[in-house]
Amino acid sequence: MHDGVWLQNLTWEEVRDRIPASRETVIVPVGSTEQHGPHLPVGTDTMVANALASAGAAEAGVLVAPPLWFGWSPHHMVLPGTITIRPEVLVELVFDVVGSLHHHGFRRFVLLNGHRIVNVTWLQIVGERAKRELGARVVIFDPAFMSKEFAASEGWGAVGHAEEIEGSHMWHCYPDLVKMDRAVDNPHRSPPLYHVDPAYPGDTLCYVPSTAAEMRAAVDAAGGATGEPSKASPEGGARYHRHLVDRLVAVIRALQA
Ligand SMILES: [Zn+2]
Repeated sequence: MHDGVWLQNLTWEEVRDRIPASRETVIVPVGSTEQHGPHLPVGTDTMVANALASAGAAEAGVLVAPPLWFGWSPHHMVLPGTITIRPEVLVELVFDVVGSLHHHGFRRFVLLNGHRIVNVTWLQIVGERAKRELGARVVIFDPAFMSKEFAASEGWGAVGHAEEIEGSHMWHCYPDLVKMDRAVDNPHRSPPLYHVDPAYPGDTLCYVPSTAAEMRAAVDAAGGATGEPSKASPEGGARYHRHLVDRLVAVIRALQA
């Protein structure tokens, strides 16, 4: 997947030479390893971050740091395969990645969050600290926020979990890893205030902690999904991917302006 944009594939001499060529810009993919229903792999959030980062980097001429495969996922610990790290660990880890890259001359950072919404709070802390302590320019790119207008055009419902949005994207990017015939719908109930979807027209806190009991109910209803994965399609996933890559390139251009 665009092998030449990944930092880990380059020698140190190549990295040195690519820093000015990239206009000192690097994408840091941050995802999660957590259950994604019976139909998507536990690495989904990191995989979609990698797919977006590598495509956007190839088009914008920037580099991608090795991905962070772990995020804050305590709400998914009810099912095996989930690995969660503490928020303070996430903040310190991503800050040290940014600090290391800054030490070598990178000045512009895109923190690309595949663990939609849930990692954002902690990445905001990283960005603020990197700006204050290092003078780095940091932006956060989150697919849920960057596709607010797009999802409705596909007839998709609200942001949930392992729903038609992630199902479509994974189906397009990693067709060998999806098992859509195993998917079970678990439609959203009429949304209360404090909805998780940033496109919800009412109030939205964008992250509403789930108790173990609430997650157990989602597991019992649909094996861990929230939403309607039966609406997923690889074609929709391709259009969603294109929309997000265009947005990512635009964000990088603005960061470099
Ligand atoms: Zn996900």
